[in-house]
Amino acid sequence: MSDAERIVIVGASLTGARAAEGARDAGFEGEILLIGDEPELPYERPPLSKDYLQGKRDDLSWVHEESFYADNRVELRTSTFVSGIDPSARTVLIEGSDPEPYDRLLLATGAEPRRIDIPGADLDGVHYLRTVADSAKLRDLFGEGARVVVVGAGWIGSEVAASAREKGCEVTVVEPQEVPLEKVLGTEIGAVYRDVHLEHGVDFKGGTGVEAFLGDGKVEKVRTTAGEVEADLVVVGIGVVPRTGLAEMAGLGLNNGVPVDAGLRTEAEGIYAAGDIANQFHAFYGERIRVEHWANARRQGFAAGRSMAGAEVVYDDLPYFYSDQYDVGMEYVGYATDWDEVVIRGDKEAREFIAFWLKDGRIQAGMNVNIWDVSDTIGELIKSGEPVDLAALADPETELATLAD
Ligand SMILES: Cc1cc2nc3c(=O)[nH]c(=O)nc-3n(C[C@H](O)[C@H](O)[C@H](O)COP(=O)(O)OP(=O)(O)OC[C@H]3O[C@@H](n4cnc5c(N)ncnc54)[C@H](O)[C@@H]3O)c2cc1C
Repeated sequence: MSDAERIVIVGASLTGARAAEGARDAGFEGEILLIGDEPELPYERPPLSKDYLQGKRDDLSWVHEESFYADNRVELRTSTFVSGIDPSARTVLIEGSDPEPYDRLLLATGAEPRRIDIPGADLDGVHYLRTVADSAKLRDLFGEGARVVVVGAGWIGSEVAASAREKGCEVTVVEPQEVPLEKVLGTEIGAVYRDVHLEHGVDFKGGTGVEAFLGDGKVEKVRTTAGEVEADLVVVGIGVVPRTGLAEMAGLGLNNGVPVDAGLRTEAEGIYAAGDIANQFHAFYGERIRVEHWANARRQGFAAGRSMAGAEVVYDDLPYFYSDQYDVGMEYVGYATDWDEVVIRGDKEAREFIAFWLKDGRIQAGMNVNIWDVSDTIGELIKSGEPVDLAALADPETELATLAD
């Protein structure tokens, strides 16, 4: 790509800010315009359900220090909503401003919380969590004795429940599956998280649906399939949906997000996508996957920047994410949607263990809980694609790294 050309990035969060860095890293000398509708500098979201939400910190985790943008000649335009794309004119449209031309365009518009569609969903006191503004509002409301009902026990719901307990709230979690995180972790490991929450005083209602939010203007109760629960506020965490409106306007086909190839290119000439919005053909898995996690936004965003700058890119990093709830920290590497076996290495009761999800004797994913510095080795085991000795895998005395040989 010639240095006279211009990269425009829509979405100034982790993916977008890392893409700007990636383009410069690949030697791109042209203009970079990074546009986002939030007022802050690009920041990372994980603290918003953890220590920021608990009031243990007030600062944000910036993707880059403010000086990065000027130093790297990245024009950052915050509080600016992109309302459309004209792929034939190669411009993005901003209300009240002239269209902005691009030679390469990155869609890094991320995802937004899935809205719940039940009676009472519009009542005051029904909240979602995505932005720092959402988190700041919730942390003001989380106080000693506040009755908080969390709908959904995925990662966000589970972390919000833990943070609300840390702030002294009375917390009920309502989840249609029997245990938290059942879809990702299965029932055995999900039960570890259920027990952690129960021990910390959460009223976990598994196998329970939510039927309605009740109240006069403001939520007062949640009607569930197991009866009514009093609520001062509700936090809904039932997953996210990719923000594909612009992609659709640009005429791109959608398939659980915006399909991209291994170099993060969409089907439209000059348009790329990365992060939560992108459904990438993953060279290692040989199929499309869309990953809604921090590490993917960080690394795939960077890779997309490099790709836009003309570097040869095949993004095939394994998915990775982490979660902190109370004193239980974990990291998860890999991607397992179905498995025939879960092998535990270590002490599940003491919450110091590694769980492996296997199919046909091969490790698909691994999760280390309160054990550190092993995720790279787990990744190597997964990438080797070799069957492993199950007894050795379960035995903490056998060095993990030797199994990768
Ligand atoms: C509370 C919370 C906690 C999390 N914790 C973890 C964790 O512990 N571990 C983990 O692995 N992952 C975690 N995640 C997930 C992780 O934060 C996301 O995967 C990551 O933010 C995705 O980055 P992104 O840049 O692709 O999208 P986003 O962060 O969604 O950013 C997209 C940006 O684009 C902007 N935008 C969208 N449309 C437009 C438009 N038309 N014009 C201008 N701007 C637009 C949005 O406002 C937003 O600023 C968490 C997420 C949340 C919400």
